[in-house]
Amino acid sequence: MPKCVFCQKEVEVVDRVGVRDDCNNCGSSLHCCLQCEFYDVGSFHECRERVEYRIEHKDKANYCEMFHFGRNAVETLADKDKVKAALDALFKK
Ligand SMILES: [Zn+2]
Repeated sequence: MPKCVFCQKEVEVVDRVGVRDDCNNCGSSLHCCLQCEFYDVGSFHECRERVEYRIEHKDKANYCEMFHFGRNAVETLADKDKVKAALDALFKK
């Protein structure tokens, strides 16, 4: 389950996160850059989806259409590496 980046509590997402949705635990906006899976400080406009305009307040709700809740991309990548390592180990037999 995706987590709120501000309080690290798991957030139950029904269907999808709306612009007005807040974290039930800490009250932070869920529909903001910091909570988005595409947020990336190293990318253009800090977004991997190459949004056309820069969203100034990364911690405030925005109307970005690319928004996708869940900053677990990093964890997913780490898991992929684990899976790959496991597969490599299998095939090395
Ligand atoms: Zn929270």
